[in-house]
Amino acid sequence: MNLIAYTYEADTHCIGCTQKRFSITYSLDIFNQVDKEGNFVHALYDIDEWYELEDWYVQENPIQYLACGTCHGIIDTYEHELIMPATWQRNK
Ligand SMILES: [Zn+2]
Repeated sequence: MNLIAYTYEADTHCIGCTQKRFSITYSLDIFNQVDKEGNFVHALYDIDEWYELEDWYVQENPIQYLACGTCHGIIDTYEHELIMPATWQRNK
């Protein structure tokens, strides 16, 4: 399980931007930090589900990107395996 980002101020931010924003050096220093909205900063790990799973969305966007809300760099990428609808076959 690897730390990939943080969530605060209603968005996801990369580790580098979070370290600058809260003037921290180590990832464990973040757990008492509060954002501008009064909420605790949360860590996002590579095992956390951040992507959209709605069928209609996945069909149009099979590759999804998690971008930093500060620097807009790509933090993580997820590619869905598209499941094609089964075709109905008549008995001949
Ligand atoms: Zn960033």
